[in-house]
Amino acid sequence: MEFIYGATTIKLVQGDITKQNTTAIVNSANSTLLGGGGVDGAIHRAGGPKILEECKVIRARYGGCDVGEAVITTGGNLPSNYVIHTVGPIWKDGKHKEPELLTNAYRNSLKLAHKNNIDTISFPSISTGVYGYPIEKASIIALNTVKKFIDETDFKEIRFILFSKKDFDIYLKSVKEIFKSH
Ligand code: ADP
Repeated sequence: MEFIYGATTIKLVQGDITKQNTTAIVNSANSTLLGGGGVDGAIHRAGGPKILEECKVIRARYGGCDVGEAVITTGGNLPSNYVIHTVGPIWKDGKHKEPELLTNAYRNSLKLAHKNNIDTISFPSISTGVYGYPIEKASIIALNTVKKFIDETDFKEIRFILFSKKDFDIYLKSVKEIFKSH
């Protein structure tokens, strides 16, 4: 499913983020940057050891990546040239700055992409796996943050890659609410 918003093509895809040919894909990493399960594990497996080596250099220099922040590596063996690693919040009850931190994760990923002249990017559904963020709420934050960013900054294409049909359908519903006038 895709539509145009301003100068940006927005796509919802049910599939695997490691197969996407956007210039960058976003990894839902953890603060250590040393890899993990879920989408993080899939990206490191498909991208090969070079990505982890670069993550280790960043970790040695900056101590990792704080929640809501983002760092960039090359894409190793992936079709994408870059991986932007961001860290979403762990869901507790919604009263521990989870919405602000999830907003920051999307926004700082987009800012880092823009700074590196990247204008096509794929996002996974950050924090909605083992980090437990309710996906209805998370999808609204993801889409609103992207909408606000492209209102202010040129971006060619933004994809949301949803692993399951259920997640895809939730995003589809949120897209209709948030972008309904388009
Ligand atoms: P988090 O720690 O941010 O919750 P997870 O990796 O556990 O990260 O889950 C984030 C989302 O990524 C989940 O919706 C999960 O189904 C999805 N996911 C897992 N593997 C992939 C993949 N290869 N491509 C796209 N999404 C994936």
